[in-house]
Amino acid sequence: MILSIASGKGGTGKTLIAANIAISVGGNIQLLDCDVEEPNLHLLLHPKVVSEETVYSMVPSVNEELCDHCGRCSSFCSYKALFVTPMKILVFPELCHGCGSCILACPKKAINEGKRIVGVLKRGYKNSIELIYGELKIGERMTTLLIREVKNISVEMRKMLLSTPHPVHPVRWSKLLGEATSASS
Ligand code: SF4
Ligand code: SF4
Repeated sequence: MILSIASGKGGTGKTLIAANIAISVGGNIQLLDCDVEEPNLHLLLHPKVVSEETVYSMVPSVNEELCDHCGRCSSFCSYKALFVTPMKILVFPELCHGCGSCILACPKKAINEGKRIVGVLKRGYKNSIELIYGELKIGERMTTLLIREVKNISVEMRKMLLSTPHPVHPVRWSKLLGEATSASS
């Protein structure tokens, strides 16, 4: 069973409700704090953290010796994360969504996969409650990637309680939840 605690506004008490339901249900439950920008379920539950994992996103790494500054990669990037001048190619990692299109687009094979840190994924226990949460790196915008990592840990459990980010659009969250449901079934 998956129960999602969501609202379209912050400060409505989702964290408190999620923590109390988890404590009330007891036994073999996974509690996922999907508010990776500001997780605070761990502040209520004080779990014993058993693992911490750095989460990365792909960013292009350009070999300037192979690059002829044709600009093809830049025109393929929907997020304006690459800027090509006749002398130099600039990468803006904060704008990059790690889609890999630029790597495929480059005729000179001048772009390789680099990586940058997006945040940290943590897993801990408070009695029989397993708490999973992500902490987004300060200044980072790629929340979706870290939320997905939080959800990916959930596949092996039967009872799951999710506390959503805030504010969350119902359609967007149901899509994310749908991915989690299909991953756990
Ligand atoms: S597509 Fe490749 S060769 Fe062209 S500017 Fe980009 S990195 Fe350079
Ligand atoms: S990986 Fe995607 S988003 Fe990032 S620079 Fe390349 S094309 Fe743009």
